[in-house]
Amino acid sequence: MHFTFRVALAGSLLAAASTIQAQGAALQPPAEPGWWRSHANSTGFTDALASLGLSTDDLARSPSDGADQANNLADPLHWLRRTLRIYSAEDSGVFHIPVTESHANGRDRNTTQGKNSHFALPYTLDRGESMVLKVPADLPAGVGCAAAVGTGPSLLHETGAQGIRPGTTTFVAPAKGVVIVTCQDPSKDMPFYGHDVEVTVLSGGAPMPMYVFGVTPASAWKAIATSPNVMGTVVTFSGRTRSSIAAPKAARAKDADIGRLMREQLVTSVVYDVVNGYDGTNLFALPTQGLVAANYDKCCSSAGGLGVVNIGFPGRPSASTSWGEWHEFGHQNQQGWGWGGLGEVTVNIYSLAACQLFRGDVPPKNCHGQLAYLERRPDAVRHFIDSGQQYTFSAGGLNEFKKLGLFAQIDFSYPKVMPHLGKTYRTAFNYGDNGGIFRTSQQKIDWFVIEASRAAGRDLSLFFDRWGLVYGAAARQAIASMHLPEP
Ligand SMILES: [Zn+2]
Repeated sequence: MHFTFRVALAGSLLAAASTIQAQGAALQPPAEPGWWRSHANSTGFTDALASLGLSTDDLARSPSDGADQANNLADPLHWLRRTLRIYSAEDSGVFHIPVTESHANGRDRNTTQGKNSHFALPYTLDRGESMVLKVPADLPAGVGCAAAVGTGPSLLHETGAQGIRPGTTTFVAPAKGVVIVTCQDPSKDMPFYGHDVEVTVLSGGAPMPMYVFGVTPASAWKAIATSPNVMGTVVTFSGRTRSSIAAPKAARAKDADIGRLMREQLVTSVVYDVVNGYDGTNLFALPTQGLVAANYDKCCSSAGGLGVVNIGFPGRPSASTSWGEWHEFGHQNQQGWGWGGLGEVTVNIYSLAACQLFRGDVPPKNCHGQLAYLERRPDAVRHFIDSGQQYTFSAGGLNEFKKLGLFAQIDFSYPKVMPHLGKTYRTAFNYGDNGGIFRTSQQKIDWFVIEASRAAGRDLSLFFDRWGLVYGAAARQAIASMHLPEP
């Protein structure tokens, strides 16, 4: 597989973490060797593999018969396997809905904007119509499921939410919409992470064409793209993103390479997790099971609460993504360690990671025109210090693209820093229990300069001084006391 070093890095981190994962078996039901073989004759599956640069022969050739990839949270195959769990029995009306954390827990554990926990089923209901749903009597303790209809052009309005009790439940739609289902665990220790709940549609609902990466053959896209649902949209699922595309835009994209678009959405999400240090080694390093909901009707913004990215850029959707999408998806991944005023700054750490993923080690100006001043080089930090340049980060006067340079130079030189910051911050924040130590921007800056130096294994104080980032005397002393070498 030809993913860049970031995923390879995560792979090695996960290998180191495998003992912990094995001990915490309840954390994540592992894939067995050969897990993929029952799908080997599915064109939807082999098409998705091909989009990822893989074949069933590749999986068969691997020593673990595909299991290692599927058990690696930073491998797209992990999420492809999850998609197969959710949707591969859709023809029988059976779905395995991933258990997600409650909304507030997800936001507080990840220190990000809240995600969307509603998975779309390929059915629509008209107002007053009903659907009979079944869930097992032995639901995991504490887990509760609910059905609703997604309404509005974006399907983002969860309308008429109704609990699905163990046994059978008749859900009555209070409005016309797409059936969406969620199963949530309100606990914070997430004993059912990676588990799912079997939800069966016993009757009701009009089938809705929907493109599911890994299940739907690529050849079916043209027909799906031109068969809008009752809300006037076309729905796709790439593994971690649920998209709603207004009918005219979907029809315009009917000849696009849908596998490539799905792959780009999926792989971007994985790489952003890697940037944020989701390596599976503790509770705070488990990536969200929630979704981003992409809306191609509006542009251009990102919002928390429902995990929404409005990415209706001109000409979108098309097979290849670019800065606009990378940026809006990036907002969904920004971590709580960012201090005030960095909303449009740290977001582009992710945009740059996506650019590198899809375009290789190109100069940052090939990612965004405002980045001509920035060089992607492993000695970026040293090079900046040697340049003698002096900036005024804290005092003001730098735009968001210039401020990005501070973080980008650290990332180019010390790729371990960003993952460390994300994971360490989430762990320290501990669902907000320790929010008091990260209350002010200055507290966060002081934490940042210390932890960035620690993860880099270099005393970065001179670098921060040259950038004009103002931090406290105690933080300066804390860095000095680590006795780290110069960058
Ligand atoms: Zn933005």
